[in-house]
Amino acid sequence: MSEQKPKRKVSVLSGKGGTGKTFVSVNLFAVMTDALYVDTDIEEPNGFFYFDIEDAESEDVTIFVPKLNEKKCDGTQACVNACKFNAMAFIDDELMIFDDLCHSCGACIYACPNDALSKKYISVGEIKETRNNPRIMWGEMKPGKESGVPIVERLNEKIKTSGESLAIVDSPPGIGCAVIEAMRDTDYAILVAEPSLFGLHNMKMTIKLLDYLDVSYGILINKYTDEDNPVSDYAKQEKLPVIAKIPYDRTIAKMNAQGIIVADVDKKIRQIFVDLSETIREELTL
Ligand code: SF4
Ligand code: SF4
Repeated sequence: MSEQKPKRKVSVLSGKGGTGKTFVSVNLFAVMTDALYVDTDIEEPNGFFYFDIEDAESEDVTIFVPKLNEKKCDGTQACVNACKFNAMAFIDDELMIFDDLCHSCGACIYACPNDALSKKYISVGEIKETRNNPRIMWGEMKPGKESGVPIVERLNEKIKTSGESLAIVDSPPGIGCAVIEAMRDTDYAILVAEPSLFGLHNMKMTIKLLDYLDVSYGILINKYTDEDNPVSDYAKQEKLPVIAKIPYDRTIAKMNAQGIIVADVDKKIRQIFVDLSETIREELTL
């Protein structure tokens, strides 16, 4: 199948969980009617809770791990030496393969002189996708799995072939491998920060990542207050772009906790997200 024209991708990220990434993503999605919402927080996807979903389809995500044919194995341990991820060991003359540590690189299979290793496919999670409005996708990692990166990779592939011209990607928290994969091909990032010293620390870490990935961004300050606001002060001092401020308001927090998309019911908040969507369209020249 030929690949459609490249999508514009906006990623919403923050240095830690609980900052309001999903709140920002779903409210922005609510005012951008032509977008696709993609929740890549594969360990704890919760964006779909905001929507009435009846038609989500599932797709299994698999990776390969090596499978041993004991009859062909002579114990040379070339495979163990080839594995850079400590996913293999010889214990009591027996080759042990630790599926959860395997990165599916295939080096062991290539290194084995006796063709004693082949590929075995195991499930690491699944992708869910709605076909009709609202158009959303999310990934879910199976409990106990070490890495959700293959699930995020698959979500990225699906974004490329989706029909929408814009994807709003709700990134995993932190700055680890899954976040870096979620940021792949990102055209613009919204960095969500909370106005506290912890928030400032996390924002600085995330800025380092964005600079490293060479992705342009704007800062959205969630739970904004004029008093004692180290994030705002730092942004001013460093001349960083603050593109939106969501005021601190218990009513907003309460509605959000109830799974209500606040932009659908509160005019002031809706206007903030409409303004944000226009800023993004300008950044993306949409
Ligand atoms: S496929 Fe790669 S990571 Fe997995 S066990 Fe083999 S060498 Fe190690
Ligand atoms: S390299 Fe092949 S033959 Fe040697 S120990 Fe590993 S699986 Fe067995």
